[in-house]
Amino acid sequence: MAVQTSSPGRLFLITGPSGVGKGTLVTALLQRHPQIWLSISATTRQPRSGEREGEHYFFLDRPAFEADVAGGGLLEWAEFAGNCYGTPRRPVEEQLAAGRPVLLEIELEGARQVRRSFPSGFQIFIKPPSFEELERRIRGRGTDSDAAIARRLERARIELAAETEFDAVLVNADLDLALAELERLMELV
Ligand code: 5GP
Repeated sequence: MAVQTSSPGRLFLITGPSGVGKGTLVTALLQRHPQIWLSISATTRQPRSGEREGEHYFFLDRPAFEADVAGGGLLEWAEFAGNCYGTPRRPVEEQLAAGRPVLLEIELEGARQVRRSFPSGFQIFIKPPSFEELERRIRGRGTDSDAAIARRLERARIELAAETEFDAVLVNADLDLALAELERLMELV
């Protein structure tokens, strides 16, 4: 018989439009709180330079991704700017069962799916100080084609309209302030 070593961990989810600085915030959060377990997603997107398999994403081709979906291996999945992204189910369930706080950093459609399967999870929406600032950040990143940038901006407008669905909204104008607010929301301080 399995021995229950701890009570189930909490599920936290961060979403917000592409370019809002979710990745930077999450990296800073994990550095300060290594007990938090960050889910690594599967994606059909091509790796950007510097991205490593199993560290940033599990990079799959479409047939492999679709096989994962069909086999029930993903907790949620969505198409975003022409690529598929999804959260592998098993590691999330294992980490929660082991009592660790689990963090997902995913887009809006996935957040909605997770809300249905984990209604007690805490979902945080990160938004930019303004749409113009978001556009400047996405263009300034210099990693995406013009077409991909246009798709991300179009999607950002849709995501920004959904902020009221979330348990908390955090404006990312200044990294240190946003990080402090995130820690407060997650009851880490
Ligand atoms: P990027 O291509 O910039 O790495 O990610 C694009 C978008 O996909 C981001 O908004 C990111 O949060 C989202 N994303 C990353 N992993 C997942 C996932 O597993 N599921 C869903 N639904 N979205 C994800």
